[in-house]
Amino acid sequence: MSLLLPKASGESLTLGIMGGTFDPIHIGHLVTAEEARQQFKLDHVIFIPAGTPPHKDEKTISSAEHRYLMSMLAVVDNPYFTVSRLEIESKHPSYTVDTVRRFFEIYQEKLNLYFITGADAILDITTWKDYKELLEACSFIAASRPGYSFSKLKIILGPAFPHIIKKVHLLEIPAMAISSTYIRRRIAEGKTIKYLTPEPVEQYIYKNRLYIR
Ligand code: ATP
Ligand code: MG
Repeated sequence: MSLLLPKASGESLTLGIMGGTFDPIHIGHLVTAEEARQQFKLDHVIFIPAGTPPHKDEKTISSAEHRYLMSMLAVVDNPYFTVSRLEIESKHPSYTVDTVRRFFEIYQEKLNLYFITGADAILDITTWKDYKELLEACSFIAASRPGYSFSKLKIILGPAFPHIIKKVHLLEIPAMAISSTYIRRRIAEGKTIKYLTPEPVEQYIYKNRLYIR
């Protein structure tokens, strides 16, 4: 996997990784990643489009190459952002724990890893493969997302899983009720998506006639 090299030998690297379907990537993802980078002093944020997402219907999502290329277009102007092909090149379904293991194989003990998610995704964490190992290995940054309150997160996870709450950092971001689903629906309805995603991504969607029913 060609990724980033540690800053200097012996020096630790603090990485944020953000997994998702990114069909398409949008400003909700980008604002979340940038805010996490600054608040948690991350050296880099790596977006990792999922190959075969275990929770989504394969037939209805765009190809991995489309989702990877749109993610690349979205990050070109940010020197701290990168996109990884790790999961899209995997022949197996993508599980976060496998990705995290792979990062530790590469960077070994020099790595501080933060997994960035929206508050919605973190609510299901106890259903994720080997989630206890995952919580040992990395911390989580859970960004606020309309419809998913932090208090709900604490109520659901707190009493039963106090170890989870300790590893989850809450990140307040400007509320954006925007999702990839919303963008896909707008395209299908012939509505504008201007400013919801970076312009090169918008152009890519039109050029490749994505999301038109
Ligand atoms: P879909 O509607 O297809 O589910 P999505 O917008 O939720 O798409 P994903 O690719 O599923 O995007 O999400 C990747 C990660 O980004 C998840 O952790 C999700 O919670 C987070 N995320 C997506 N949109 C936002 C947003 N507007 N604010 C905060 N986090 C977000
Ligand atoms: Mg989602």
